Amino acid sequence: MTSKGFTTGIVHSDRLGGGEFGAIRKPVHTSVQYGFERVEDLIDVFQGKKKGAFNYARQGTPTTSSLESKITLLEQGRATVCFSTGMAAITAVMLTLLRAGDHVISSRFVFGNTNSLFGTLRSLGVEVTMVDAGSVDAVADALRPNTRIVFAETIANPGTQIPDLAGIGDLCSQNKILYVVDNTVTSPALFLPKSVGAGLVINSLTKTIAGHGAALGGAVTDTGVFDWQQYPNIAEEYRQTNVADWGILQIRKKGLRDMGASLSSEQAHQISLGAETMALRVDRSSENALAVASYLERHAAIQKVRYPGLPSHPQHGIAKAFFKKSSWLLSFELKDPDRMLDVVNALNVPIKATGLGDTRSLIIPVAPTIFWEAGPVVRESMGISDGMVRLSLGIEDTDDLIADFEQALRHA
Ligand SMILES: *Cc1c(COP(=O)(O)O)cnc(C)c1O
Repeated sequence: MTSKGFTTGIVHSDRLGGGEFGAIRKPVHTSVQYGFERVEDLIDVFQGKKKGAFNYARQGTPTTSSLESKITLLEQGRATVCFSTGMAAITAVMLTLLRAGDHVISSRFVFGNTNSLFGTLRSLGVEVTMVDAGSVDAVADALRPNTRIVFAETIANPGTQIPDLAGIGDLCSQNKILYVVDNTVTSPALFLPKSVGAGLVINSLTKTIAGHGAALGGAVTDTGVFDWQQYPNIAEEYRQTNVADWGILQIRKKGLRDMGASLSSEQAHQISLGAETMALRVDRSSENALAVASYLERHAAIQKVRYPGLPSHPQHGIAKAFFKKSSWLLSFELKDPDRMLDVVNALNVPIKATGLGDTRSLIIPVAPTIFWEAGPVVRESMGISDGMVRLSLGIEDTDDLIADFEQALRHA
């Protein structure tokens, strides 16, 4: 069966990928070791000559492998490697592909922990330039002969800024630079970074793809767009294979081996279960976000709402042109920031918790929590005011959410 649709593809992927005993979903394989009748077969596995075989679970299991196939399908890519968290996936890309003296350009508006990783990379001798990627000119001005990677997120958390995704893709392709896009907030249900020339796509599986908040995971997908022949830091042992495999092979082999941040089969199973309903959930939570954003923007107590689905958003045009919907993420500020904690406390439906892309709405004041350690200078450069509140919409009934905000905003 050639299934073109997103959800058809994912719900039938295990069965059509060769289900064991007719199982319609992949079993949870918990074995760490894989044994062979003939030692020659074991040798072939070690030498990469036996495809679809396993030897030690740090490097993957049949269950994690089936999840990797699903993510590859969703991103319309060539291959995927899963890790134990989204941060492990980003770190694996950077540590396996960069060397001291290399240069990275990143959007200034990135996930706080990614920003922290860039600090670590600097301490290891990698140069990192943070730019306002809303303009491709800022990225072009930052290019150097040793620039290896340009990194951006589709919709930044919590400020919802959107980079010039396509302009940066063109720039990277002209200059033969690897373009890495973190697709976590949009997810493949709303956007394919491959369509704007991304060579690698990151997804935190913890968020929308699992959706239930019961598992952590991350993935790196090679879209097949980047020509790895252009990339200097591929080790000799990985250059023996098809050039299209070089990058993902190095990320898999070295990333899983050196960092050991492997996804377990149990977590991969949980993520696969969640992923089946992903398109349905993302539609619903994105509709909730648009409804709540529109409601908040009209409310007299609200100073500002940031949501790419609103015409008032600076990159509304890009969101409309590239994303199926504008996602489940928004942030807002009250006219009187001193009332912010009271309003958040008065809400009954959104849970006061960190986290994103869950079936339940989650709300958090940004400056005193997730961006506290970053300090005021970084907060200011990332456009985060002291009164900013982040809201990740879940799949609750829209009317319940609006009614809850209506009563809570009486405290404003
Ligand atoms: C959450 C998140 C990550 C990290 O994912 P974890 O699975 O929590 O490690 C990376 N990028 C973005 C945009 C995120 O929202």
